[in-house]
Amino acid sequence: MSHSRTCIQCGTAIVGRSDKRYCSDPCRHLANNVIKQRNQHERRILQINTALRRNRSILKRLSPQGKTTLPRQYLELAGFDFRYLTQVYRTRKGNTYHLCYDYGYLLLPEEKVLIVNWQPYMDEHS
Ligand SMILES: [Zn+2]
Repeated sequence: MSHSRTCIQCGTAIVGRSDKRYCSDPCRHLANNVIKQRNQHERRILQINTALRRNRSILKRLSPQGKTTLPRQYLELAGFDFRYLTQVYRTRKGNTYHLCYDYGYLLLPEEKVLIVNWQPYMDEHS
């Protein structure tokens, strides 16, 4: 007699073939859906991480010293995706810096951007 096994979805004892992992079809479907959903979440996370890293490397490439003013179009042409950022920093003057990890930018008039390095004070709560 084989030792008793339990459904990995609900814990109910499994009867029948020894290679069964679920007690029933509903449990098998439920478990498969959980796996599918988790894969979707992971894909989404990877997609966003990739976009953020690309943004960061574009900012770094266009502003190796961490402070450069250039046309916003340069970022767009390089493939910068303005939808993805890691942090927002608002100065007392009301300027808003958008950051991708350790690089950031400020939108300037006339379709220009100022690229900056992240600074420790940008993490302080004001
Ligand atoms: Zn079950």
